[in-house]
Amino acid sequence: MLNTELTFTDEFGSLLVIMPSVLKKLLGYRQLDSFSNEAAGVLIGERRESHVVVHEISEPGEGDIRRRYFVDRRGPHHQAVVNEAFARSSGRLQYLGEWHTHAEDSPSPSAMDLGTWRRHLVAQEKMVLLIVGRKKIWAAKKDAELIVPLIGV
Ligand SMILES: [Zn+2]
Repeated sequence: MLNTELTFTDEFGSLLVIMPSVLKKLLGYRQLDSFSNEAAGVLIGERRESHVVVHEISEPGEGDIRRRYFVDRRGPHHQAVVNEAFARSSGRLQYLGEWHTHAEDSPSPSAMDLGTWRRHLVAQEKMVLLIVGRKKIWAAKKDAELIVPLIGV
């Protein structure tokens, strides 16, 4: 599983591809024991027509607030990683959305998650949302006000 990418689709066949190196990092933050806290970061990658490929992420760091059932991605390094990737790739690698973990096997967004995304994740383009659970990864696209869960391929 670690050496393959993870792919999701929406009902129109638009794909979300998570590259193997990203998947490996995300799985490393799973809350597998009783004291591990939530982790969060941003997703970075490219848009190809209606498809999205996640190539990089930012990871937890200084300034973030991490609890068992709460995370706040406050560290300034998240935006720095986005800026660095954008500059290095001449704009090909962009901010695509965000990820965080949940201490549940099959994760689903909390009311707080939905509220935060609706208020703060405002963009012209569709944004990607990932929640990394202990056994499954929940993925969705945010299209204006609509949050549309994706299906694993
Ligand atoms: Zn959450």
